[in-house]
Amino acid sequence: MGFRFLALPSHRVVDHPRTQPDEDRLEPDLPPIHEAVERALAGAEFRDARARDRLRSLLQSDRPPKLGSPGVGFGPSAVFAQPPGDLPALLRLADELEGLARMEAGERALVWKCGECNARYAVPVALVRTVSILCERCGTPVELNPTRSLGEEALIDPFLGTVNQCRRELATFFREAMARGWPVLVSQGGDASARGKEPARE
Ligand SMILES: [Zn+2]
Repeated sequence: MGFRFLALPSHRVVDHPRTQPDEDRLEPDLPPIHEAVERALAGAEFRDARARDRLRSLLQSDRPPKLGSPGVGFGPSAVFAQPPGDLPALLRLADELEGLARMEAGERALVWKCGECNARYAVPVALVRTVSILCERCGTPVELNPTRSLGEEALIDPFLGTVNQCRRELATFFREAMARGWPVLVSQGGDASARGKEPARE
């Protein structure tokens, strides 16, 4: 169940069951990994509520959203943010997302290589102290001395990199939508919304 955001001028927004028009669309360029989008929003707040909780209450309450879907595979849309009332809250959310991306990208590591077999060792900067280890590949002692490391690099796994990319993309999108004065709609994809649109198949 991935979330999909879309902004378009108010006068173009159509009701369910029509599909939102292709003209004047603004959409964030998010990777097709919905866990990354969910994770990107984790820890961010919108109008004193957690952003993810707001999305869920908009899309999974007893009253289904009333606006048209953004496209095939997605359910009806709800208004996530409406300018000008939601402008400050959305800009704050954009700041928050960028702050989270900066913070989580900020962890650095020092790197060493085994002089014998070139096996690589990286230790988060905060945890570095001079210590000698035995290379787990060849058994040669490797001295993890900060003054003799090969240098610093970002310690970030590919998934977290994707999450941070989502955060920056969403922040840019929210700012752009508010600058244009367009409402931000959100919908949800996946089985629940796709069901009923296509004939059942075994
Ligand atoms: Zn080695």
